[in-house]
Order: sequence, then structure tokens, then C-alpha cells
Amino acid sequence: MRVLVTGGAGYVGSVSVERLLDAGHEVVVLDDLTTGHRASVPGAASLEIASYGDGAAMGRLFERARVDAILHCAARSLVGESVREPARYYRDNVSGGIVLLEAARQAGVGRLVFSSTAAVYGVPERTPIPETAPLAPINPYGETKRTFEGALRFYAEAYGLRSVSLRYFNVAGATERNGELHDPETHLIPSVLRAAETGAPISLFGDDYPTLDGTCVRDYIHVADLADAHLTALEATAPDDARTDAALVCNLGIGAGFSVREVVDAAAAVVGRPIPATMGPRRVGDPPVLVAAVDRAREVLGWTAQRPTLEEMIGSAWAWRRTHLDESGARIS
Ligand code: UDP
Repeated sequence: MRVLVTGGAGYVGSVSVERLLDAGHEVVVLDDLTTGHRASVPGAASLEIASYGDGAAMGRLFERARVDAILHCAARSLVGESVREPARYYRDNVSGGIVLLEAARQAGVGRLVFSSTAAVYGVPERTPIPETAPLAPINPYGETKRTFEGALRFYAEAYGLRSVSLRYFNVAGATERNGELHDPETHLIPSVLRAAETGAPISLFGDDYPTLDGTCVRDYIHVADLADAHLTALEATAPDDARTDAALVCNLGIGAGFSVREVVDAAAAVVGRPIPATMGPRRVGDPPVLVAAVDRAREVLGWTAQRPTLEEMIGSAWAWRRTHLDESGARIS
């Protein structure tokens, strides 16, 4: 099939593009390169530099590219920024998303896989979190993702759009070609590895949580596993596939959690020296434990994570940083 990957020059998008090409699909990457990297797009994919929120550009692209399905990875995705600037999140994640859906509808593209997030659950009542848990996002990022999921549900009922929304937990790791590089970087694993590179200590956000070692527990998933899930989900949106007759929602995680301390210890083992770290106060809005219930992804999509260890996730991230970043942390290849 020919797949349009929005955000295909970003971290998750680019690894998914690699996976789709490996599986023999044609890929059109759509990215405005505001946070994506041109170097992340393989030569075998074509790159369109535009925004998915630009209706005229999308109309022309669908006319020209004749895609069968869309993998919608592009979005604004920083929780803190979303609290400070909700307008940007509503404009891009909601309004922009609807522009994309409308252009797709006019072009007759009826299959879509959406990068959603565990942030739609807010602070869950219990964990592991099933997809049926109440949706109660506590920031504009999670709220705008929830809103777009809702649009997919109603587009399915009214217009027959076949979609899968994938609620990611904590994505980590790299392939040989593509890894995680944000500016500013807020995520734990790249920040830990940066501390190993520079010697400047990372601040750990609290050790007085009701967990075994007092630090927060998260469900980390290898980005290559996520890419496998995207491929499976795209296949599941085919008109003759019984897995999606409407809008399917699935968590993507490994179904188990690691604490912040376990991540730091695993990173020290990978890099072969202690990670400089200081214990700081809690970060506002951090739930103590977020772990995915992953039964639905297994039972409905037939997908499970194949790389569930911190060694694989942190080891691949470290290998990628050593080959693709210079000493200042800038990307060189
Ligand atoms: N964290 C930390 N120091 C950092 C970044 C993150 O202690 O510099 C903790 C954070 O409080 C959370 C976990 O690491 O418990 C994962 O945070 P991240 O921002 O990577 O993902 P989130 O779970 O917020 O989506």
C-alpha cells in the first residue's frame, strides 16, 4: 500500500517509515520540519514539506500522491508547553487534524492510524490501565489527543472511516538510523544519556512516591516495537480485515513498569560508568505509576512488544547517540 506518514521526519514517525519501507510499502512523508529532521527520512521515501493543517496543500497532495492510508504521527507533544500555550495545541492537534481528515475524506482515503497517548487517562484510578478506563486528561496535550480520538469515532459512524488510535506509553530506544532528539529534551532516557555524556547531573523528580523505591514507575516501549504496531494497525484498517470495522483504540506498552531509579541503573550498566544524578522535588502532574494493560493489542491486533528490556531500549539509544550526535549533542548524520 502507499502510506502517507505525517510527522515522518520525527522520532516515532521516522522509525515507522523505516518499518513500512522494510515491509515493502510505498511511503510519502509529510513534515514541516519544525521539529523533525530531514536526515531522518530515507531516500526511498518521498518527502513533502508542508503542514497537515494546510487544507489546500493537503488537497493537492492527496490528488497527486493517491495514498491508500494515513499514519498520523505529526502533532505538538510537550505537556508543559501545552499548559502554557493551549491555543497552539488546539490549533495543530485538533483544528489541523480535522483539516487532514477533511482532505482525506474528499480524496476518498478511508484508512487512518493515529498516534495517541496515555495522557488521555490523566491520573488513573488503577493500573495497569485498560482502554476502558475513564478518559480524564489533566493537560491540553492529553485533552487535544482525546478530542481527535473522538472525531475518529464519529467519522467512523458517519463516513465509514476505518481507524486505529494507538495510545503510547513511554517510547524509548532507537534503530541504527533514527533515534530521539528533542530541543529542549525533557524525557528521562535521553536526559540520562546526556548526563552520561556531559557529566552534568540529571535531576530526578522525587523519591517519595508510593512505589517500591519511591521513584515514579512508567511503562517504557521500544520505538521499533511501536513501529511494528503501526504496520499491524495499518494492515488492520483494510476494508476486508475484521479487526477494524470502525474506530479501534489500543494501548501500546509492554504491560510492566520500570522506576526512574531502575532506568538510571540500567543506563549506568549500558554506558559502563555511574550516571551523575541529583534527587530533586516532584514534577507537577506526575502520576506515581503508569502501566498499560496490553491485552487488547495482543488479542485484537495480534501484536506484543518484542524488545521489552531496558537494556535493549537504552542500549540502542546509546549506540545511536554515539554514531549520530556530536559532542554538543547536535545531530551530525
Ligand atoms: N524524570 C526525571 N527527570 C527528568 C525527566 C524525567 O526524574 O529529567 C522522570 C519523570 O518524573 C517521570 C519519568 O522520569 O517519572 C518519565 O518522564 P518522561 O518525561 O520521560 O515521560 P512522561 O512519563 O512524563 O511522559
